[in-house]
Amino acid sequence: MRNFAKEIEERKQAGLYRTRRLVSGPQQPELTADGKPLLSFCSNDYLGLANHPANIETLKNALPETGLGGGASHLICGHHDAHYQLEERLAKFTRRSSALFFSTGYMANMGVISALAGRGDTIFSDRLNHASIIDGCILSRARIRRYGHGDVAALETMLAETSGHKLVVTDGVFSMDGDVAPLRELARVCREHDALLIVDDAHGIGVLGPEGRGSVLDAGLTEEDVPVLIGTLGKAVGTSGAFVAGSELLMDYLVQKARTYIYTTAMPPAVAMATCTSLDVIERGDYLRSHLEALIERFRTGARALGYELMASHTPIQPIMVGTNDAALALSKALEDRGLLVTAIRPPTVPAGEARLRVTLSAAHRMADVDRLLAALKECRPMMEAPETAWA
Ligand code: PMP
Repeated sequence: MRNFAKEIEERKQAGLYRTRRLVSGPQQPELTADGKPLLSFCSNDYLGLANHPANIETLKNALPETGLGGGASHLICGHHDAHYQLEERLAKFTRRSSALFFSTGYMANMGVISALAGRGDTIFSDRLNHASIIDGCILSRARIRRYGHGDVAALETMLAETSGHKLVVTDGVFSMDGDVAPLRELARVCREHDALLIVDDAHGIGVLGPEGRGSVLDAGLTEEDVPVLIGTLGKAVGTSGAFVAGSELLMDYLVQKARTYIYTTAMPPAVAMATCTSLDVIERGDYLRSHLEALIERFRTGARALGYELMASHTPIQPIMVGTNDAALALSKALEDRGLLVTAIRPPTVPAGEARLRVTLSAAHRMADVDRLLAALKECRPMMEAPETAWA
């Protein structure tokens, strides 16, 4: 048998041990974690809708009508009218022909990629794609070729030397770097090399594009350019679940083939109803997005002035690059001592030597919250100057 205790000890020694915090109360910037009040800068609730009164009201009103549990999978007897309504709403929201509602983004990626690719096909995947994309690629049994992050020229060379069915898959907004994929160029090379483009816009939906419709529409691309769009609902949308949107033919095919859709219990229908309300809030939410933009700008200007290294990101994902695992843990701890929650992100979530603090901003933050983070970062700045002594 494997020596689990030894492996855990090795992780601890390498600064890679993972822990969980116990949060009580709703998800919002003022969190209670492990019994301590903290100002959080690490959730993906980019618009502050996880605790929005309109969404909660819909959920409460829906429950007596729909009951709680999903009861069965969609193909047995779990496909509720509320799920159907949400799919219609998601298709309209993304300006696509149709949509299919999944229970989580992880399952959407696993199910969609493994349904659309198989043995003998080739999937081209950005080096920084999310774990669920990587796992979907592995599950498909297709040949996997990784291209350098955002490197369309390298991808084009690979596409040119490959025959057979080709799929290109990318995050829309990269979850740990916050940058946006070069979607227009990706669409062009996919068109030229007859490859199917799949975009996982988990972090773009709600935040980018007209009325928050995501990075694909922000890039001016249609269903023809990006035939497969995946989005999650647990981040900016503030509820739970995920979707894929595209042609009716594609959805029909996925209902036949996507195992993570077929063999799982449907989400509680009331959550689908609350998600529809959340999409209404998002469509009318330009005020939320402009406040968010102002927060991002304030953070970037302030952190750069303090000498912190940021990424080329204009999204709410604003990593502070630190380097070593110990340094990232120490900075996170120093911020926590000052009442701030910003988690350290370490390998394998990011490449070795690129540990970071993943700061995320939300429209639920006030400008004063960002100023508080910057003041704490200022106090912690000397630690960054002499890391070998400070992190000891
Ligand atoms: N795709 C990306 C790019 C993500 O960042 C995540 C979640 N971190 C997922 C998919 C998975 O979504 P979910 O949390 O709904 O499973």
